[in-house]
Amino acid sequence: MTALKLFLLIAAGILLQIAVAAGMAFYRHWQVYQEMKNRLAGFNGEMPQEAIPLQNMVAGNENHQDAAWTGLREFRVEKKEYEDAAGSICSFYLVPTDGQPLPSFLPGQFLTFSFNLRGESQGEHKTTLRCYSLSDRPGLPYYRVSIKRMPPPGIVSNLFHDHIHEGLQLQVKAPSGHFFLNENQAPLVLVAGGIGITPMLSMINTRLATHTDQEIWLFYGVRNGNELIMREHLQTLAARHPHFHLHLCFSQPLPMSDQAGISSTRDMWISPSCA
Ligand SMILES: Cc1cc2nc3c(=O)[nH]c(=O)nc-3n(C[C@H](O)[C@H](O)[C@H](O)COP(=O)(O)OP(=O)(O)OC[C@H]3O[C@@H](n4cnc5c(N)ncnc54)[C@H](O)[C@@H]3O)c2cc1C
Repeated sequence: MTALKLFLLIAAGILLQIAVAAGMAFYRHWQVYQEMKNRLAGFNGEMPQEAIPLQNMVAGNENHQDAAWTGLREFRVEKKEYEDAAGSICSFYLVPTDGQPLPSFLPGQFLTFSFNLRGESQGEHKTTLRCYSLSDRPGLPYYRVSIKRMPPPGIVSNLFHDHIHEGLQLQVKAPSGHFFLNENQAPLVLVAGGIGITPMLSMINTRLATHTDQEIWLFYGVRNGNELIMREHLQTLAARHPHFHLHLCFSQPLPMSDQAGISSTRDMWISPSCA
């Protein structure tokens, strides 16, 4: 065998390996895409009506028991609003369709949403539940949740972003959860990463609405300024309340805008290195 033939043989072998690997990768992605498409095809805006036993009626606070509801309650999406420069986090403002008062909740608690989605096999439908923290304070005429789009095939977060529009109705369980802010008025130190900030937004908004002289420190980590949720809101709070200290940590700061130091707004400190 000549050197040229040997070279061609090796090159052909390498090309074959690359083609097989690319084919396998494409097939895997195609399968994931099909699965997600099939599941979302089962969503037609109708939600299951069956009652789900109440698990946690505004957990940890007996005084709130009158205010919660059992099973599922219908809410309408009043407003949909993007919250970050990257457009990956969207807030949904919800009001009950029965016109009855909105029960209070404890800052830090979450809502559970129920969807009736197509299952694995033909004709099968299954109830899919997802929890989302209430991201604003109690006592407002709406509930708000802020949802990050997960990479496909993240089923429900993509459903929210792509198919849940203003005016659509959703089935929702009452606020619940044991991670909440109590009435204790000690200084507050909060550490949040990415979308994990949502319950803390509720805590901060609640505290600043009632105890403006209380020390609150928020250490908030994201990759860069594009991923900051509610940047303007946080900056406004930091500028308005001298006791609210906002520290941002960027693991992959943008060269122009995410530089360390005090930002243009007073009291918003971008830490030099949090990576
Ligand atoms: C108490 C609580 C509060 C929460 N609050 C919030 C909140 O405020 N905001 C918020 O955005 N989220 C919140 N979450 C998370 C939220 O409930 C969901 O878990 C999240 O939105 C993902 O759901 P999904 O249906 O989009 O993804 P799922 O379909 O459940 O998938 C989860 C992840 O796995 C990956 N995955 C799934 N299947 C595959 C596969 N076959 N191959 C490879 N990867 C796969 C998806 O890409 C995704 O990243 C909260 C969760 C809890 C428990």
